[in-house]
Amino acid sequence: MPSTIDFDAMISDRARVVDTSGIRKVFELGAKLKNPINLSIGQPDFPVPEVIKKAAIDAISSNRNGYTLTQGVPELLQAISRHLLSDVGWTVPSDDLGVLVTSGTSGALWLAFMALLNPGDEAVFADPYFVLYPALGQITGSKTVAVDTYPDFRLTAKRVERHLTPRTKLLLLNSPGNPTGVVLTNDELRDLVDLCDRRGIVMISDEIYDEFTYDDAREDGKCPSPARMTEHLLLVRGFGKTYGCTGWRLGFVAGPKPIIQTMQKLQQFTYVCAPSMAQLGVAKAFEVDMHPQVEAYRAKRDAVVQAFQGVTKVETPGGAFYAFVEIPKNLGMSASAFCELAIESNVLIIPGKVFSRRDTHFRLSYAVADKTLQAGLDVLTGLMRRN
Ligand code: PMP
Repeated sequence: MPSTIDFDAMISDRARVVDTSGIRKVFELGAKLKNPINLSIGQPDFPVPEVIKKAAIDAISSNRNGYTLTQGVPELLQAISRHLLSDVGWTVPSDDLGVLVTSGTSGALWLAFMALLNPGDEAVFADPYFVLYPALGQITGSKTVAVDTYPDFRLTAKRVERHLTPRTKLLLLNSPGNPTGVVLTNDELRDLVDLCDRRGIVMISDEIYDEFTYDDAREDGKCPSPARMTEHLLLVRGFGKTYGCTGWRLGFVAGPKPIIQTMQKLQQFTYVCAPSMAQLGVAKAFEVDMHPQVEAYRAKRDAVVQAFQGVTKVETPGGAFYAFVEIPKNLGMSASAFCELAIESNVLIIPGKVFSRRDTHFRLSYAVADKTLQAGLDVLTGLMRRN
């Protein structure tokens, strides 16, 4: 019997303004195609390292399946604390409430926006951006300001400064970046840290791809991070991409205690805690050497850049596993139109408008087997040359 209730009309304004993720749309389309060459997926193609799998299985077998402390399990908090000290020089004792284990990096970003933004407050980030950023603005009733960074995709202090107002509360950085793979330099980051300091703005540094930083973009052997310049920011990192366990939903955030404690309070009423067995699994993660995988991705990155040379423009990605490829102007078509052509040839890529106000580029993920990547590159460069 049909319901007398109009459930569509029941949906809140808050939820209504958010569109379904453009990435998920392609993901779902991909599930319907027969053997597509799928270059749309934002997750690594290698298996979770054995030591991490085993620790998660052991956690289940030894009955550590209940709620954990909202902050996280002690084993993981201690590992994060050691890692923060050795990697960015922060002293964050594991019992000191300066760090919080979250349900994915998304969980950390959700809680940060919820903790910080009042309706009307403004959050600034680069265009192109990760799809969650504008959605978080819509959900929290805050205003998101996307700073155009074409054609080199560098979020410089100069570009940001023009967009600051008395309502600006947040600057959200993402380096290495999704969808461009661009890695900011220490000099660029220092200018942004100074700017936030001068203008009283909270910086959030989303470093989910930090391990996937190639040698040419590293400085002193490391992914440049503003966390090495100041402790007065929110540092957000994840485990899913680095160790191939995106489905486990794990990230963490460290930074100023008043903010972390507020996020923890909000976590008590939302995610409660991150998945228990997954937390115990990744407590071993920092012991794992991911260099071979990162090196393999560097070679894939080189293959992508080389394939498009002389065909179209691609900023060489310094990290992550994406390239943001321009549609050659002489084709006279939008990125969306080009992506439809690609789908007709069984190749899945994501149109730039999903990540941007512009629709001139597409995102290609090269986190796939070499053969798949090469087949996809052949189709895409073929389409660009044909027209
Ligand atoms: N930030 C960026 C820049 C991302 O690309 C992603 C995932 N695509 C996330 C955050 C969210 O990651 P997680 O799966 O850890 O929630």
